[in-house]
This record gives sequence, C-alpha cells and structure tokens, in this order.
Amino acid sequence: MSLPIYVDAYSGYKANERPVRFHLDEEFYEIESVVDRWHDPNAEYFKVRTTDGKLYLLRYDQHEDDWTLQSSLDRDALLARPSITLITVELAAIRDAESKIAGCERCRPEQAEIPFDWILADVLDKRGPFEFILTETARCPSCRAALSEKTMVEPTGRNRR
Ligand SMILES: [Zn+2]
Repeated sequence: MSLPIYVDAYSGYKANERPVRFHLDEEFYEIESVVDRWHDPNAEYFKVRTTDGKLYLLRYDQHEDDWTLQSSLDRDALLARPSITLITVELAAIRDAESKIAGCERCRPEQAEIPFDWILADVLDKRGPFEFILTETARCPSCRAALSEKTMVEPTGRNRR
C-alpha cells in the first residue's frame, strides 16, 4: 500500500529536517519520534512513531517533492514490511564493501559523503528499498572505527559515483 499524504516538516522540508505530523483520512497524526531513517537514490524514508504509539513508514520523493505513506507498521509487521526488504549481509560481502572505501566520517570527515549502505547496495547489487543487516561489525579500513549502514564514508576512486 502506498498512499499520498500531506506532511508537515519543520520549516519546509530540507535534507536534515524531519516530519512532525501527517494528515490522512481527515486526521492528523502527530509524530513523536523518528525511529529510523534511510534513503535510496530517489527517496528518503522515515520510520516514525506517532503519539499513539504506532509505527508508520513515510517516503519522501526528493524529485517529485511529495510524501507517501508506505505502510502502517506494528511490532509484528516490522520484519515483514511490504515495501522494505531486509537483506542479511554476510562477512564476505562486508569485507568486500570495506575494501571499496577509503575512509569514514571519523577519519575523513571532509570526504565522507555517502552512507555505507550505498556501498553495500553496490556490492550486493541491491538498489532500492532494502535495509541491510550486518552479520559482523564492519570497520573502516583507515581508522578501524565501526561502521553502521548509515555511517558516511568515502568511496575508493574506482567506486566513486
Ligand atoms: Zn575511518
């Protein structure tokens, strides 16, 4: 299911701001917190918790400048989300992804411009609404800091987009 919705974000929507409420079926849903956020090349996703304790997945299309409600989530539905596929990332793929980065936001703050999950998407050839679950800790080859899927990294030259 994917429904167009009206979303209020702080002072219009900008890259690092967050939705504060959305409007659906003549009701306002106040967003208490953003539980998680991630993006693919076309859109940004926000997993949000409303003040009544329910989870929803909102998608913001940066090109169209519109928001859709991807699905309503409850705890049981979380691992079976219709629009997001969870991908388990095995050690070999983690090592492969590590070899494709030159540094991370900790050691190369100026150059780290893409999230680590973009590299994982390349390695696994999975682009789209995927969420990656790392089976082992990924580490920056330069400073050995632990990397999450959302850590900003600098790709090596041959992988640069
Ligand atoms: Zn680093």
